[in-house]
Amino acid sequence: MNAKEVLENLKQRFPNEPEYHQAVEEVLGTIEEEYNKHPEFEKFNLIERLCIPDRIYTFRVNWIDDNGNYRTNMGYRVQHNNAIGPYKGGIRFHASVNLSILKFLAFEQTFKNSLTTLPMGGAKGGSDFSPRGKSAAEVMRFCQAFMLELWRHIGPDTDVPAGDIGVGGREVGYMFGAYKKYTHEFSGVLTGKGREFGGSLIRPEATGYGNVYFLMEMLKTKGTDLKGKTCLISGSGNVAQYTAQKVLQLGGKVLTMSDSDGYVYDPNGIDQEKLNWIMELKNQYRGRIREYAEEFEGVKYVPGEKPWNEVADIALPCATQNEISEEAAKALVANGVMAVCEGANMPTVPAAIKVFQNAKILYAPGKASNAGGVSVSGLEMTQNSIRLSWSAEEVDAKLHDIMLDIHRNCVKYGTEPDGYVNYVKGANIAGFMKVAKAMMAQGVI
Ligand code: NDP
Repeated sequence: MNAKEVLENLKQRFPNEPEYHQAVEEVLGTIEEEYNKHPEFEKFNLIERLCIPDRIYTFRVNWIDDNGNYRTNMGYRVQHNNAIGPYKGGIRFHASVNLSILKFLAFEQTFKNSLTTLPMGGAKGGSDFSPRGKSAAEVMRFCQAFMLELWRHIGPDTDVPAGDIGVGGREVGYMFGAYKKYTHEFSGVLTGKGREFGGSLIRPEATGYGNVYFLMEMLKTKGTDLKGKTCLISGSGNVAQYTAQKVLQLGGKVLTMSDSDGYVYDPNGIDQEKLNWIMELKNQYRGRIREYAEEFEGVKYVPGEKPWNEVADIALPCATQNEISEEAAKALVANGVMAVCEGANMPTVPAAIKVFQNAKILYAPGKASNAGGVSVSGLEMTQNSIRLSWSAEEVDAKLHDIMLDIHRNCVKYGTEPDGYVNYVKGANIAGFMKVAKAMMAQGVI
């Protein structure tokens, strides 16, 4: 394989999909050497078959708002690869959703799920519907309308969606209810469900907790831990909240959180009590992070900006893709950051990744460090299948073990001759090899 040629070809066939091209480029650039050690892969054109999704569903979603207006949104499900298990990946509701973003997420998900050691393929779906400013009744009607089309393409052994940006426990609950009604079947078709109807303990916490477990392993390689370390967190949704909680539990100090309007900087640190306040603000009142600065003393609110110009030991991007620019990465390095661990998917642009790697700081790509969420989703599927539920301690211990395992694999495949661990390379090779071998064994299909 010549990575450049494969990418150019994909760009010509699928123009105007920059996020998809970016994700493919990052993976191909790091697996090329390993891939070329296996001439059998090339013979069966494995790389193209792995980059192009198995199938994509695109559909119109009609729903009625509270004023009686008939509204139209687009819905999508990208089923990328099911070589190692049923398709699995979240659903995103956000105004920015388009096929390029979902194709990048589904592609990444395939490698991430492979890394978890659990039997899950890769998928992603969503809609350009924005829950922001919508009433609970409108969100419910939208979820039902979305599922009215999606239900025929998913199933507990076919494709198991979960949450993502704009889709939390509430939305998963509405979609599960709709699926159950349309199919007349109660099954583990979605993960991130409520505890009362098959959800797993620790699923809400899993992505954030897993992110910090991974960070701890990286810090361990430098003989240190989180005690007394200052952290910049972006986002204030699910992943950011539980990343912050675990940082606090392990002795770190959280200086910032954000949303799409701006960020807050609290020099005294966002402690557990203040974090509880944020959780209530975001999860129940669906408020804005700006309100935190109005509630607590000495807090700075910076509208329209991201927190990366602040000084801290660690950066934990937990909002969205491409939120750390090259400039931001340079500022972080100049300010002495020692580790960047991604809770979000692809939050760092390629040039910024180079800045971190050239500076030889610890840098973990989301497909490794945020794999805790889908891992516990996998454990939720297992519990649904055996019709039992495990205790919080059991699930947390399994999550911890999985994150350690992912870290070990990154070190195994990503350690460079000078001892620096290239976690991007490690994660990509480890994730890729398993899927590639499964695809080879199953023939050209
Ligand atoms: P939530 O919807 O709960 O929170 C998203 C947060 O990011 C909100 O604070 C939101 O602000 C902010 N945000 C969203 N879009 C933008 C934007 N364009 N610019 C700036 N801020 C933005 O989502 P999650 O916490 O679940 O997801 C966050 C990230 O983590 C995503 O990249 C997701 O793919 C990834 N992820 C999530 C997993 C999960 O289990 N939930 C698993 C693995 C990865 P606002 O309120 O203003 O929209």
